[in-house]
Amino acid sequence: MLIDLTLLDIAQACGGELIGINQDVRVVVTDTRKITSGCVFVALKGERFDGHDYAVKAVEEGAIGVVSERSVDVPSYVRVADTRLAYGCIARLIRDSFKGPVVCITGSNGKTTVKDWLAQSFPERNVLKTRANLNNKIGVPQTLLELERCHDIAVIEAGTSIPGEIECLADIAFPDVVVLTNASGSHFEGFGSLEGIALEKGCLISGAKPDATIILNADDGFYHYWCSLVGVRRVLSFGFHERADLYAFDLVLGAKSSSAMFSYKGEILPVLVSGAGKHQVANSMAVVLAMLSVGVEFQAAVQKLAIPVLVSGRLERLVTKNGALLINDCYNASPTSVEAAIDVLTMQSVEETWLILGALGELGEQRDSIHKGLGIYAKRKGISHLVCVGSVAGLAGAAFRDRGGDAMFCDTHEEAAALVRTLGKTHAILVKGSRSAKMENVIEALK
Ligand code: ATP
Ligand code: MG
Repeated sequence: MLIDLTLLDIAQACGGELIGINQDVRVVVTDTRKITSGCVFVALKGERFDGHDYAVKAVEEGAIGVVSERSVDVPSYVRVADTRLAYGCIARLIRDSFKGPVVCITGSNGKTTVKDWLAQSFPERNVLKTRANLNNKIGVPQTLLELERCHDIAVIEAGTSIPGEIECLADIAFPDVVVLTNASGSHFEGFGSLEGIALEKGCLISGAKPDATIILNADDGFYHYWCSLVGVRRVLSFGFHERADLYAFDLVLGAKSSSAMFSYKGEILPVLVSGAGKHQVANSMAVVLAMLSVGVEFQAAVQKLAIPVLVSGRLERLVTKNGALLINDCYNASPTSVEAAIDVLTMQSVEETWLILGALGELGEQRDSIHKGLGIYAKRKGISHLVCVGSVAGLAGAAFRDRGGDAMFCDTHEEAAALVRTLGKTHAILVKGSRSAKMENVIEALK
């Protein structure tokens, strides 16, 4: 851990009460499988388990104390009103002792991409980054608690599925740099509308340090709204028009990478951006601005963009047994990311393009119209065949077929895989759907 802590420090940070003797804490854990001697165990309540049921066992296995919402039969514990909030307070204590910059990334799309890209762009610095997609009220404190003296910078992903979450994450991470990629129609269910989503993302701006740098997408419809939240903080904007501080022009979008000119404050440089799609150029500009805001020179920053950022399940290029290009983008899906992935599919130099689509979740009452819209988008972009898995994805297929497209409807992943198994080198297959659609089963069946 970054600093030495005691149970009393924890009690004070959380507004809790230490019961028993004060002891030094070596590490903070929430998972009984990770108990080591000298740790403090925070008893979180999950959907399936209640950490309080394991408090005594944790101490038997070496924990020096427990953070708990009720009295527990152990020699030392910190009693708090809410263990989840307490976990955040402990993480904030550690974060406040960190001297390096904390960069926090939110937005509807591209968070993990920007996070991983940025983190890999500092080969000379020791970076702590959010592992995988641990971007929620447990994942963010968990990441910050991993800060060590050797770290120079923290790159943290902040996600949200209900209003209020980002405000809480901003309170824990208290960012020096905020990156807000965009607001798009994902997770309508919790937020009701796109405005609700923009409002939620904006909480990372209001909750950032007073001297923070805020990196915003100047092409997003909510750009001016987000600017209104900035106050005395500094804004750096990116986009595809001259009005942005960093803007890209003369784009040549390729199947695996793109080239463009980047202009920043009068300096213009040619750039090679690894990864396909215009959205990736937008993400790369966010990465560059984040690098500039922590002291990297413009030229050095853009040079890092040619290095591929490889994230499993996100536009990952594979080959099927029969030699067809298989684009695995099934980690998750929002309407915007489906469109972005369709754009990438159309850029491949093949004779036929196949989209295998599973349902998108968390869209609330817009579910049907959004799926229909995606079918129309796929047809407009010239996708050759659309294979839908399940009835919700089938709404896209129906719209695709109504416009003269070749749509197929499957009940299972295996059926969908069977439809494309014989395709070969002249074909490209994109597999996409929300986490809940488990479209990786199609990939497994085809690899
Ligand atoms: P999650 O909310 O699941 O954590 P995320 O915001 O971390 O998502 P990524 O995992 O980086 O997003 O990207 C998911 C998919 O979204 C990518 O595979 C890509 O197709 C698409 N995507 C990435 N960046 C953008 C962007 N700037 N605009 C639109 N789509 C994007
Ligand atoms: Mg993510």
